[in-house]
Amino acid sequence: MAEQSLTLMAVHAHPDDEATSTGGVLARYAAEGVTTVLVTCTDGRCGDGPGGVKPGDPGHDPAAVVTMRQAELEASCAALKVTHLETLGYADSGMMGWPTNDLPGSFWTTPVDEAADRLAELIRQYRPDVVVTYDENGFYGHPDHIQAHRITMAAVAKTDVPAKVYWTTVPRTAFAEFGKIMQELGVEWAEPDEPQPQLGLPDDEISTWVDTRAYGAQKFEALATHASQTENIFFLQLGQERFTELMGMETFVRVRDTTGAPVPEDDLFAGLR
Ligand SMILES: [Zn+2]
Repeated sequence: MAEQSLTLMAVHAHPDDEATSTGGVLARYAAEGVTTVLVTCTDGRCGDGPGGVKPGDPGHDPAAVVTMRQAELEASCAALKVTHLETLGYADSGMMGWPTNDLPGSFWTTPVDEAADRLAELIRQYRPDVVVTYDENGFYGHPDHIQAHRITMAAVAKTDVPAKVYWTTVPRTAFAEFGKIMQELGVEWAEPDEPQPQLGLPDDEISTWVDTRAYGAQKFEALATHASQTENIFFLQLGQERFTELMGMETFVRVRDTTGAPVPEDDLFAGLR
């Protein structure tokens, strides 16, 4: 086959999301010679501060958190061999219902069209064949994830560039396995108090299963660069081997396709090479 250059763009909400949900595909496709572009929409200021201090608590300095998380993001990109990192720099909106949702400059209050125009510029610049983002619920309802979804879909519509677009997902069968492993390891695993909308999808609704287990060490290393965030420590407690077993298969729903590649498929670039 003639030499060709392929490009993958992943659009994420916060520093660390690139590692948990797409660390495997970013590492694998970089190793295969694909140009990888990570777009991180927010600055992560509502994350934990140095020493685990929580947002809103005394001593939580958003500016210091931003600086720390930018450095972590760059280290994660180095671990995953991301070709280009682009940050949009919107203020992290915090969890749904937090007062930070409505602060000026928050990603959540930014008009979709305005942020989508900036992302569309990046899409025109890098010409990704494949774009990956979250589903319309941002997977679990975080406002910045929902907004990342909205601006990505708007930017794709504006540019008409990518041949394929995917939303990240998790097979529901994996959640059961996850709970079992957590119990085995004695990791604290709090069941949510309120009923949650059901996360993830049944296996037969997942179009794309990418085996990234060979890149488990890189994915784990990328996540470890974000160890300042308590929700990541949860995963790090698994150790690299169990983490790879559990998180090594990355799954997606294909929502745009101009290639006609049959589903289920095992490659985001199926039909393009
Ligand atoms: Zn996030």
